Amino acid sequence: MISGKGGTGKTTFSATIHALDGGVIADCDVDAPNLHILLNPRILKAEDFIGTKKAEIVQDRCSGCGLCYELCRFGAISADGYFVDEKKCEGCAFCFNVCPEKAIEMRDVKTGDIYFSETQWGYFVHARLKPGEENTGRLVTEVKNRAKKVAEDVGSDFLIVDAAPGVGCPVIASLTGVDAAIIVTEPTASGLSDMMRVLELCEHFRIRPFVVVNKYDLNEDVTLKIEKYCSENEIEFAGRVPFDERILEQIANLSFPFSGKAAEKMVECWKKVKEVL
Ligand code: SF4
Ligand code: SF4
Repeated sequence: MISGKGGTGKTTFSATIHALDGGVIADCDVDAPNLHILLNPRILKAEDFIGTKKAEIVQDRCSGCGLCYELCRFGAISADGYFVDEKKCEGCAFCFNVCPEKAIEMRDVKTGDIYFSETQWGYFVHARLKPGEENTGRLVTEVKNRAKKVAEDVGSDFLIVDAAPGVGCPVIASLTGVDAAIIVTEPTASGLSDMMRVLELCEHFRIRPFVVVNKYDLNEDVTLKIEKYCSENEIEFAGRVPFDERILEQIANLSFPFSGKAAEKMVECWKKVKEVL
């Protein structure tokens, strides 16, 4: 489940599919995860995510030559006793390689957690990145690969991946190895251009795309343009989902699974995707 930008309803759609068909779902939007808020999972197991390494000076071995201080281009080493400021260290290991006394070690640093959970409907793999940490793409890959393994272990027919929005590294990490992508877009000029960028990614990675227009009735002219574009380019159009205020109220009240015309249409779109696949 992807979208060129955030707020298109991708997570709402993913959660609705999970509540309908169960199986395994992964929240690969690790920078801003929110599927857990809807799915209210019970965590079965948590694993550390080692996202980076940082230098550490072993004082017993340090001769105080100052080479690491002079060469660290991030200014992460203090000359006052030679120690590493973890916040500034980028983990490049240059100091580790140049230290004549082999006094520098690169140690693993935990930058997040990966959770294996169960929901009322199936299984859920998700993660939390520590505030300010990076390496999102790697964490996305870890979450997706673990979810794939869970799907194999429990014999699930499919794995739903709620990808990060946009077209950057986390989305590419979410997309690699999947069979199909449901692109959730909105009927705006930016929605149309975001959709085209995401379609390019799908083409590049040879992933079968399906397009869903959420809140289609907010601008039916653009919705028609999106449909026309799909038809002219032989892209599967999975359906239109109407704007439905009730779903906003249900999100605010954490009333899930969703009901109402938007939720019903999402189910129809998903059934269409399943039929084609
Ligand atoms: S390069 Fe090695 S020995 Fe020299 S100051 Fe740095 S840690 Fe100490
Ligand atoms: S690992 Fe790189 S950034 Fe960190 S202290 Fe060493 S040289 Fe500086």
